[in-house]
Amino acid sequence: MIFELPQIKKKFQFNRLALIIGSLMPDIIDKSLMFLNISSGRGFSHTILFTFLSTLFVFLITKWNKIISISYYVGTITHLLLDLPDIPLFFPFIYYDFIYIENPFGSWLYNLLHDPSVYITEIVGMIILIFIIIKNKLFNFKKITGFLLENSQKELKINNSQDDKLNS
Ligand SMILES: [Zn+2]
Repeated sequence: MIFELPQIKKKFQFNRLALIIGSLMPDIIDKSLMFLNISSGRGFSHTILFTFLSTLFVFLITKWNKIISISYYVGTITHLLLDLPDIPLFFPFIYYDFIYIENPFGSWLYNLLHDPSVYITEIVGMIILIFIIIKNKLFNFKKITGFLLENSQKELKINNSQDDKLNS
């Protein structure tokens, strides 16, 4: 949402899809492991070390694509910042007590209905998301994928034209 602000959008080149994937990655991994009873739900993927290692991985698989990798990194860091303070940020360099929740769905639902800091941010997030969808007319799949890949496509075009120049 921050990156949809016109002032920020103009200044920074970023990849929306990588940013979104990065911002979800800590939960994609830790919440999946939680259901297998291997993670507390905020485990290794919620550490600074994970953000570095996974960004390094993204760097490698995108052949050092800076825009995609930095977008991914900003996403993961933003996730950790919003999860503070209940995360093992400096694990394994500092010891943390990992708390295992017995009934995660039940406690999530309870927090959603009873904790104003949870339901207010969810409602505000929804309103902003609807605003972004309407403002950018994202009413079909093609539009959505175009929106998510916008910057990387631009970059691709630049790379292709550079290759063409080199070939000619
Ligand atoms: Zn999280």
